Amino acid sequence: MNSNNNKPIRVRMAPSPTGFFHVGTARTALFNYLFAKHSAQRAPGGKLVLRIEDTDLQRSNADYEQVIYDGMAWLGLSVDEGPHQGGEFGPYRQSERFEIYQKYADELIASGKAYKAYETGDELTAMKAEQAARKAAPRYNGAHRNLTEEQRAAYENEGRKAVVRFLTPAGETGWSDVAYGDIKVKNTELDDFVLMKSDGSPTYNFACVIDDALMQISHVMRGEDGINNTPRQLLIYQALGFEIPQFVHLPFLLGPDRKKLSKRHGAINVLYYKSEGILPDAMFNYLALLGWNPGEGDTQEIFSRAELEEKFTLERVNKAAAIFDPEKLAHINTEHLKAMPLNQFIELVKPQLPPFEMDDYAKNAIEAARERVRTNVSWEEITGDDGKMQKLAHFDTDFGRAANYFFTDDYGVDEAGAKHLTDVSRPRLAQFAARLEALPDWTVEAIEGTLRGLAEELGIKPAELIHPSRMAVSGRTVGPSIFHLLEILGRERVLRRLAK
Ligand code: GLU
Repeated sequence: MNSNNNKPIRVRMAPSPTGFFHVGTARTALFNYLFAKHSAQRAPGGKLVLRIEDTDLQRSNADYEQVIYDGMAWLGLSVDEGPHQGGEFGPYRQSERFEIYQKYADELIASGKAYKAYETGDELTAMKAEQAARKAAPRYNGAHRNLTEEQRAAYENEGRKAVVRFLTPAGETGWSDVAYGDIKVKNTELDDFVLMKSDGSPTYNFACVIDDALMQISHVMRGEDGINNTPRQLLIYQALGFEIPQFVHLPFLLGPDRKKLSKRHGAINVLYYKSEGILPDAMFNYLALLGWNPGEGDTQEIFSRAELEEKFTLERVNKAAAIFDPEKLAHINTEHLKAMPLNQFIELVKPQLPPFEMDDYAKNAIEAARERVRTNVSWEEITGDDGKMQKLAHFDTDFGRAANYFFTDDYGVDEAGAKHLTDVSRPRLAQFAARLEALPDWTVEAIEGTLRGLAEELGIKPAELIHPSRMAVSGRTVGPSIFHLLEILGRERVLRRLAK
């Protein structure tokens, strides 16, 4: 039933502005973005459309729409057409397209593929209750399928408002989903669903199909909750003679406990991760791995944006449960921190460090300390939506702790390392300092030679000099290699600190 797709690749993201920018929505947006970019490199087309699905006028608002733009901007997801960009298929807000939906509804009524139904809310509730009583599935019973002109006029004179229902034909409806494979349902499962509500607004399924068709969307890629809607949407495509796009449904995101992500404390809000210091490139990288992989046996995890645009194909999208794991996100964040341009990294960590001049010393120091940068996760126990205990991940990238000693003598001493400064090690450090003072060249090799030479003379292991030296000059037990560290700190600073 899927059409051939030699037509230009056009994909869309269609969020409803009714809440924050969910990580699941962001993942869907990202996959569409990557597919568009990947395609654009190879053939004409490759466009991403942003359509705001604000037909629910009560729940939609401009603030929530802004949240979508903020989330996308943070992730660096640009679109080719949308409410701000415009485009030849606009308007791109469904609330501005009601006349279009009405026109197609009228067309379906005129061709006998849809009809007006006048039941009141109470009558529909009674219908459901009666069905429940005989343990039948709740379905519209088709009572108004074949009203006469007179009957319709009578209802309208009563002041009743009609909905427009689709006249679902007998048979089966199915498609071959790119991720989920062949799916088929009996049309009796679908009943005569509503296209237009009595207030003149369209239902999601109807507006979605009209827009996807008119906007010439080639691939509909969305969350797995779309699977239930697809059969009804296919019936609408067929009734209107529209070309059918490919469907790609993406598995839900689960927490590490394999349960739905918790809504508490905004942990499913993309912008939460921004506020926790996660890099947009890291989030971009991580989201891409939730339902996609680069290939059989390919274990690469760290990707730049350009690499993902190059590698992303639909063949590698899969329906395996996608676990959103904050520890993994933290790991990916760490790797991006290490890989980003140094100047950018310096700008990022500057607020965590004592004030400093931006000179070669600062650059070398930060570059060396960066090898040890790490984003850590800590877990807060919270009460979830279901009243049960859940864990909320906090992220911490404490670079100040790892590097402040480059910029101040007042760096404090790690408790774990204080044991290295003893009555035995202190005189050795004094000897080491004297030799360093006399060194003709302040280089890594010369410093290393001096330390190893002294250790040998004293009949001790080099480590017995290395640990106390590191403690004395940095107050830390970990950091860059000691010889490199001393070289960067410079002779003056090193002697001053050893003397102390
Ligand atoms: N507005 C729908 C949603 O946010 C879009 C679903 C779709 O992509 O078709 O769930």
